[in-house]
Amino acid sequence: MKHEVVIAGGGPTGMMLAGELTLAGVDVAIVERRAIAELVGSRAGGLHARTLEVFDQRGIADRFLAEGQKAQATGFAGVHFDLSGFPTRHPYSLGLRQNHIERILAGWVDELKVPIYRGIEVTGFAQDDTGVDVELSDGRSLRAQYLVGCDGGRSLVRKAAGIAFPGSNPTTSNLIAEAELAETPPEWGIRRDALGTHALGRIEYEIRNGKIVYADHGPVGVLVTEQHVGQTTEPTLSDLSAALITVYGTDYGIHSPTWISRFTDAARQAASYRKGRVLIAGDAAHVHPPDGGQGLQTGVQDAVNLGWKLAQVVKGISPESLLDTYHAERHPIGARVLRNTMASIVLRREDERTKALRDTIAELLGMDEPRRRFAAMMSGLDIHYDLGEGHPLLGRRMPDLDLVTENGPLRVFILLHDARPLFLNLGEPGGFNISPWADRIQLIDAEYAGSWDLPALGRVIAPTAVLVRPDGFVAWVGDLSQRGLTAALTTWFGPPTAA
Ligand SMILES: Cc1cc2nc3c(=O)[nH]c(=O)nc-3n(C[C@H](O)[C@H](O)[C@H](O)COP(=O)(O)OP(=O)(O)OC[C@H]3O[C@@H](n4cnc5c(N)ncnc54)[C@H](O)[C@@H]3O)c2cc1C
Repeated sequence: MKHEVVIAGGGPTGMMLAGELTLAGVDVAIVERRAIAELVGSRAGGLHARTLEVFDQRGIADRFLAEGQKAQATGFAGVHFDLSGFPTRHPYSLGLRQNHIERILAGWVDELKVPIYRGIEVTGFAQDDTGVDVELSDGRSLRAQYLVGCDGGRSLVRKAAGIAFPGSNPTTSNLIAEAELAETPPEWGIRRDALGTHALGRIEYEIRNGKIVYADHGPVGVLVTEQHVGQTTEPTLSDLSAALITVYGTDYGIHSPTWISRFTDAARQAASYRKGRVLIAGDAAHVHPPDGGQGLQTGVQDAVNLGWKLAQVVKGISPESLLDTYHAERHPIGARVLRNTMASIVLRREDERTKALRDTIAELLGMDEPRRRFAAMMSGLDIHYDLGEGHPLLGRRMPDLDLVTENGPLRVFILLHDARPLFLNLGEPGGFNISPWADRIQLIDAEYAGSWDLPALGRVIAPTAVLVRPDGFVAWVGDLSQRGLTAALTTWFGPPTAA
């Protein structure tokens, strides 16, 4: 069996990548170990602003917005940020559990008719000059031009490719679970002690007069820090009970768990996101503590950075070297997430010195400029790929401007729905000719009368024209002198087609 690309793992990263490749006309298949599509248990609790923008660029943000709850849910060091007033159409986070996020993504991938080999594991692979033979747990194998490991933190693909995964070992270990309690605890909510942070709370709630009101019965969410670090087996009810007794002196008769999982503060990142014809993305490339809710966001955005590049290489539009820009751009972003989550872990400690440090940082974040910058970082809106010197938009996300075109009003993100590159001429209509790339790039003449505001940076000078990549990042900014345009078009979208 043959596909142009095989993706190991159909979590959020794998599904996003499959969607991107399919939009670009690539024959891609997912191999997913889980036999059923549904994710059991809870991991991510929502989506931050940039991830919502990324979904908006593909025309699927509404599906998530229809099910989630808008909230101001970014923060750092105990300081909450409010994105209201940020120059984005989504100045908020969206509360929506990962099982729902995955269900919605699965619906999209299904519409795009991505084949999924379910209940099957990738067990190994061998790559040669022209492709990869991917071994499956049912004894079959798949031949592909490229294999992408989106197979989570314990990634077999990463290990089998021999990609190093340096970083820090865990210093804390937490159990997180949903279960029933036979007794009602005297206190609900968060407890902090020398061991770490713990929490007990009802799962079910309703919104009354704009406020969350928790149910007084039903399942309970438990978060408890374990006394010992280093357990690698699947957590059990007796592990959970023991951890509760250590912290609360009782397990409140805990029973009937629907799921129990363990997470730690280990932070590791792949030394390379590519080894020949094998690439990795999402948790396979980086693991870190859940602080700030950044894991799923980073994985989805890895996928959107990689998808169009891999598609162009598979289609022979661009040389293989385009794939190196995936590591060059996304590795620093992953490293930054590791850095801020590691800092968050330290800042959670309850000793006097750490409290003093936390208060000091909170004071700094009380100032406008640091607060704006950190809010832009934690929401992913400030991501900047180093594409060289130039206009501040270069290497940053294209804002979703309200344009006026000859066909009427149009949002920029609508022009990105089919994941094709976009050349936007906001100057004299007809001023630019990119016909040698017309088979790949849509040229739109448009007017935009408003200001150009970027998150964290503020107002920037209005450009005459911009070249926008399918991932929504700006690859060239310029004017009618067209300086550097041919080079940018060739770098990102391949050589010109002969007339
Ligand atoms: C307690 C907790 C809270 C979190 N909270 C947040 C949050 O609030 N916000 C946030 O953004 N992130 C959060 N995360 C992180 C988020 O869950 C992950 O970053 C995200 O799931 C990564 O997606 P992924 O697709 O890269 O990997 P995964 O979701 O791990 O998906 C990998 C997939 O690959 C499959 N697989 C594995 N091995 C193989 C194989 N050999 N062959 C075939 N298939 C295979 C697995 O079955 C799985 O479906 C949290 C995580 C935890 C543990």
